[in-house]
Amino acid sequence: TLITLTVFFSLIFAYLGYYFAGQAMKPIKTAYHKQEKFVSDASHELRTPLSIFYSSIDLLNREESQNMSPLGKEILQDLQTEAQLMNRLVNDLLQLARSDKKQLTMEMKEVNLSELLTSIYKRFLRKKPATIIFAQKIEPEIFLVCDETRIQELVYILLDNAFKYTNEGEVKLTLRLNSSEKIITVEDSGCGIAQENLPFIFDRFYRTDASRAKGGSGLGLSIAKSIVEAHGGKISVQSMLGKGSVFTVTIKDKN
Ligand code: ADP
Repeated sequence: TLITLTVFFSLIFAYLGYYFAGQAMKPIKTAYHKQEKFVSDASHELRTPLSIFYSSIDLLNREESQNMSPLGKEILQDLQTEAQLMNRLVNDLLQLARSDKKQLTMEMKEVNLSELLTSIYKRFLRKKPATIIFAQKIEPEIFLVCDETRIQELVYILLDNAFKYTNEGEVKLTLRLNSSEKIITVEDSGCGIAQENLPFIFDRFYRTDASRAKGGSGLGLSIAKSIVEAHGGKISVQSMLGKGSVFTVTIKDKN
């Protein structure tokens, strides 16, 4: 009977603990959902006026700028850059809000990852600064069932960062196969990330002083992470301040 009573009371206490913890979390969960909904609604509402704003400035820039004073041209140019940034920010937020609600629409098909990465590599090679050596080691004939546009976006985000945070040195893109895992790495010999900042770099809006100086939004890596997770994969980073960083993405075909 003693054992039965002990088990009985343990169960009661476990249940009460579970119940009260749940109750205590409720306001936090509600606040979190409210915040998620606000971000999602706001970015949705802002999208249309912003894209009209952006295309009007673009048109003005192309059609009318020759009749403008140098100052007018300069202001128009600034407006265009800022509108472009705002447009991207709103689209990024919308994409993150969708991934929170598991509403990312994925168009899965078999993709030749080796070809996709080679073409991205070539595009970056054309526009890279002269101070950086851009190398690749892409194993041929690696295929993955994935959303091609999103994987492209993921690699763009990582390469964009590698170039943004490397003034001179080397950036390297690799793709290899480890049994059934496809492993993409983006390595750079740039400014690196301080150990105390590493746990936060995949958080939304988290950015360091290095990023502020470059006009970063702090959303790139959280989008990269949401893309990798939507494919059931993992993303990790190794970095040393002043030495450089390595971002590793590991994805398998979903069964
Ligand atoms: P952003 O670059 O717009 O600030 P991200 O979400 O892409 O936003 O990155 C978050 C932070 O992680 C950056 O502010 C930067 O401090 C750090 N970071 C990302 N990639 C690199 C890199 N390759 N080298 C050094 N720091 C990086």
